[in-house]
Amino acid sequence: MNLNPDLKKRTQLELFRLYKSIQSSVHDLTYLFWECTLRCNLNCGHCGSDCLSSSSVADMPAEDFLGVLDGVRRKLDPGKITVALTGGEPISSHERPTVGENRSMCRMQLMALVRR
Ligand code: SF4
Repeated sequence: MNLNPDLKKRTQLELFRLYKSIQSSVHDLTYLFWECTLRCNLNCGHCGSDCLSSSSVADMPAEDFLGVLDGVRRKLDPGKITVALTGGEPISSHERPTVGENRSMCRMQLMALVRR
């Protein structure tokens, strides 16, 4: 490890530090995670979401989440936002298909974090 970097390297490091500092203060929303269900067919012991094959907690209605997305679209550029559907197992959510087809998702990227 070089403990005495040259001017070019020091400048690069300083610019990167400045970039990260600005990025931290602005803190743009670029990823929006929706834990759309607490149901999962695996029931892993290490699960941080305490997911079970049948959850006692009802899934958030898609209309509620789409309302959140509409609010985000009014304030931010939707083309810069990725929506991640997660859970639990998003495939087991009854609300998931309607979200992907809704116009509130227009220009937003959608990805589903499914289990294999
Ligand atoms: S959500 Fe992930 S960690 Fe939790 S039970 Fe399902 S597969 Fe396991």
